[in-house]
This record gives sequence, structure tokens and C-alpha cells, in this order.
Amino acid sequence: MTLAAVQGQARAVGALRSALQQGALPHACLLAGPSGVGKQLAAIGLAQALLCPQAPGEGCGRCSTCQRVERLAHPDVLWLMPEEEQVRRRLAGRSDFTHVPSRDVRVEQVRQLQERLSLRGLESPRKVVLVLSAEAMNPAAQNAFLKTLEEPPSDTTLVLVTSAPDRLLPTLRSRCVRYGFSPLPRALVAAHLAKARGLDPAQAEAVAALADGSLERALALDPEQLERRRATIRAFEAVTGEDLRTALRFAELTGTSRDEAEEALGVLAMWVRDVAVVPFSGATLFHPELRSLATTAAARLDEDRLHLRFRLLDEAQVAISKRNASPRLQMERLALEMAEGARP
Ligand SMILES: [Zn+2]
Repeated sequence: MTLAAVQGQARAVGALRSALQQGALPHACLLAGPSGVGKQLAAIGLAQALLCPQAPGEGCGRCSTCQRVERLAHPDVLWLMPEEEQVRRRLAGRSDFTHVPSRDVRVEQVRQLQERLSLRGLESPRKVVLVLSAEAMNPAAQNAFLKTLEEPPSDTTLVLVTSAPDRLLPTLRSRCVRYGFSPLPRALVAAHLAKARGLDPAQAEAVAALADGSLERALALDPEQLERRRATIRAFEAVTGEDLRTALRFAELTGTSRDEAEEALGVLAMWVRDVAVVPFSGATLFHPELRSLATTAAARLDEDRLHLRFRLLDEAQVAISKRNASPRLQMERLALEMAEGARP
């Protein structure tokens, strides 16, 4: 997986590759953008391009150097990440730590990195530092890292990856050249899902729509979850003023626990947004497979009723998550008031 293989990020990756080709790569690069869109792959590809003896400036992806870089097992690629993440990725075992593995990058880790940077490269005169993910550095760690950015050791490239650049110290951000990564095109996520998961095109398209441009999120969603979302939406749309049992049925389905109710409310907020935008041509929906249901719902709702839906969802959300109200009763109230508002 070299830099050239990173998909859907022509702008950022193109800029990195042309900097590499011109020998003008900044000593500190900040790869910023939503999670799950290829920033880490690009960071690893960058390290391969810098260290690969077979295809310098590109990375071949096949030689021993490239493969060890990809596994984060090359001695001249130093990386920083929270201990908990090291355990999750099997780069370390839980028993490697005498304490509970931390969820942030601590100042001690930055100091160790700085000690290693002061030594000569083991295999190559060049070293690459990958900070995955930079916002995991706590403020003390960021301050310590700032020293490395201010006085970068020679022949060292620092690559910081972040999905939350606003959590980085401004002084740290300003010392890096920023490469912006965008959400992935939906078709690309769908194509990848169809291949990786063996989903049929319609299913892949439906999952991709919910992932909002993040391949990571798309892979975390399963078709079963998708079916649950649709059941929630159908029960919601089935609520009518003529038959109040429809409201009770909706509450029964979605109000069994606080978690379930919160999930349903999240789904429905996306759904009501679909209903609000579906009349506009070319609108991108979260649930494209339910377009005809959204169109029917939109035809029934005037602006006031649409607003009522948004407001009721919001009130239920606040009541359940902030005031610890009964999920069942809140979902009932939501459905009954919606049914009431639906009467002519
Ligand atoms: Zn190589």
C-alpha cells in the first residue's frame, strides 16, 4: 500500500507526491481530515517513499523496507500513539505496561522518541516520525513535541496525522505544512464495501451513504444494523393520527432501553433530514434506498410539521440523555405528539 495506492485523495496525495519528486517535502507535514479516509495510509506511504531503496521518492510496496514500514516494524520509522491503541493494534501487549495502558500520548513517550531521534539511523541515514493520531497527545506532550518541531533533527521527516486539528496547539499547527484530506466519494466507499464485504450494489450503496465519506465507519456498519435502522424508520413513518396503536408500537420498538432510544433518535434525525431535502433535485440522502418513502413523507408534511418533527426528536434526545427520563415514555410522547400534529 504505497502513496500511489491511496484512493480518493487526489489533491492531498498529489501535493505530497510532487513535493517528494521535487525533493521539497516539508520537514513537518500535518495530514488533517475526517477519520477513516486514508490519512494513516498516506502517512505510511510517505514513510515508504522516503525509505524505499527500490523506488526512492515513490515506494515500491514490495521490498523488505516497504513491508516493514507498513507493519510499523522498521527501526527508522518511529511512531507515537496511545498505549491503549498499541495494544489494540497488537504492537504491544498489555503486559508490556506496568500501569493501565493510557488513552492519550504522554509526555514520557515524547521524551523517549526524542532520545531515539538523537541517535543515528539504524538502517538509513533518514528517519521518519509518524504521530498517529496527533490530537491524542495531551497538552504536556504537545508542548514537549513542539521542541522537536522547532529544532528538527537533520534528515528527519515528521508526519502528524489528525482528525481533530483544532485540538492541537496553534504553535504546533503553525510549524507544520497542512495537507487536507476530504470525505471519500460515496461511490468509492460503496465499491470498496462491495468488494471487501461481498455486499450487493444496493446494500453497499446504502451502507456507504450512512458512512458519510468514511471508509472506517462504513466497515464498522453491518447490514443487520442497517435493517434495524430501516425498521425504526418504517415504524416512525407508520405513526398516524387515526390509529394511536401505531404510536405505541413505535415506542415499544425503540424505547426498550436508553441506548436503543438514543440510537433510534440519531437514526431518525438523519431520516428527517432526508425527508427535508428529498424534494430538491440532486439531493444526497443518508438512506437512498428509502427514497420513495422519504418522498411520500415529504409530500404529507408542510414546513411546520417538518419543524415539529425536528423539535420533538430534539426534546426526546435531551430528556433521555440529560435528564435521565424514561426512554419508553419519551418515545411514546414523541410519537403521540407527532400523531397529533399529523391531524388535518
Ligand atoms: Zn520498497
